[in-house]
Amino acid sequence: MPVTLNPDAEMVRVIKEGLERTGGYCPCRTQRTEEYHCICKEFREQINDPSFEGFCHCMLYYKSK
Ligand code: SF4
Repeated sequence: MPVTLNPDAEMVRVIKEGLERTGGYCPCRTQRTEEYHCICKEFREQINDPSFEGFCHCMLYYKSK
């Protein structure tokens, strides 16, 4: 279950800028809790879910099956 960066370099650049701005919290969400510190709880669960394939909420990462 490999996890890779979005192949869209501009998207990656924008999201990484957002992560720097927030100190590592998900830039696509307003909550600043541990649950939303990148890599967020949602995507960690998706990584561990053998049936999940797709992007994380922000589309920074892509998880293949
Ligand atoms: S949605 Fe993606 S970028 Fe946002 S915190 Fe989760 S893993 Fe990181």
